[in-house]
Amino acid sequence: MDINNFNKDEIISKGKDITDAAYQKSLEIIERTKIRFKLQEAKATQKRAYVRLGKIAYELIKSGEIKPDERMSGLESEIDTANYNVKLLMREQSELRGAAVCPKCGFLNPERAKFCSECAAPLHEDTDK
Ligand SMILES: [Zn+2]
Repeated sequence: MDINNFNKDEIISKGKDITDAAYQKSLEIIERTKIRFKLQEAKATQKRAYVRLGKIAYELIKSGEIKPDERMSGLESEIDTANYNVKLLMREQSELRGAAVCPKCGFLNPERAKFCSECAAPLHEDTDK
């Protein structure tokens, strides 16, 4: 009886150890997941702030309020090119979707618009005649 009881206690004790270890492990996993999540958030915030600062710097360079040094002017032309390409591709995409691009100012108008809502130029000049 004593041996049986001892064994039972030992088994319970071992079982408890294993459960404690598993619990401890899951706490660790939760903690690591929390940290990973917080790190992602912090990195995203960091990135957004850099982007905002970069946009402000870009605008200041464009308006001539600050003079870019060599590194900045390289990036400036890179942004110019990217902006141009974004505009071009967005226009292409909109044209595929049926938007009416103003022949005068390039503004994207709704498909059925007859006049540009930006500069009032007539749209679809060719098809109207
Ligand atoms: Zn227009």
